[in-house]
Amino acid sequence: MMPVVKTLSVEGAIGPSADKFLVRQPTQEEAEAAVRTLLLWAGDDPSREGLADTPRRVAKAYKEFYKGYAEEPRRILDRVFEEVEGYRDMVLVRDIPFYSHCEHHMVPFVGKAHIGYYPSKGVVGLSKLARIVDVYARRLQTQETMTAQIADVIEEVLEPRGIAILVEAEHMCMSMRGIQKQGSSTMTSQYRGVFRDDTAEQVRFFTMVKSPGM
Ligand SMILES: [Zn+2]
Repeated sequence: MMPVVKTLSVEGAIGPSADKFLVRQPTQEEAEAAVRTLLLWAGDDPSREGLADTPRRVAKAYKEFYKGYAEEPRRILDRVFEEVEGYRDMVLVRDIPFYSHCEHHMVPFVGKAHIGYYPSKGVVGLSKLARIVDVYARRLQTQETMTAQIADVIEEVLEPRGIAILVEAEHMCMSMRGIQKQGSSTMTSQYRGVFRDDTAEQVRFFTMVKSPGM
């Protein structure tokens, strides 16, 4: 069979990985064989009954976990923003759940993102912000990079007067490995525009994020 060569570009990636790179897309059989190797590496027997279908399931699950590579976040925001007559105050979408995988161990980190911005050109449908978070989460990530990428794309497309992002997550690679700090969470933030320039705006954002829900 002829190898399929695809050009992939990791949208919004920072540093050298932002360049396009050539890969030969592995076949389903190759992906399943790799899973069998990892089952052996873990110390199990890939031929036992309970594991017979596991490589196929894992390959399928990977399509789901990492489907963010095939999506273009700019396009999600691009065509949906609407004019807002006179609305100049903060738009805050909080508690957007996400499921990601750390790029160091390919182990899940799970948490919530909160996005606040002051519109200038317009606003986007609230569900679009959740989709942006999802696209970046469904790639191999660090929490820091993901937080910056969400801020970058919103800044670029919406050109808000300010944007604030807060991401809080529990990293299974911390909970399950070595140090085993169960229940500890990591917070990352990005403040741009008025949020960067005015700490009172950061406090307002944080207070709104942490205020009791409805
Ligand atoms: Zn990790």
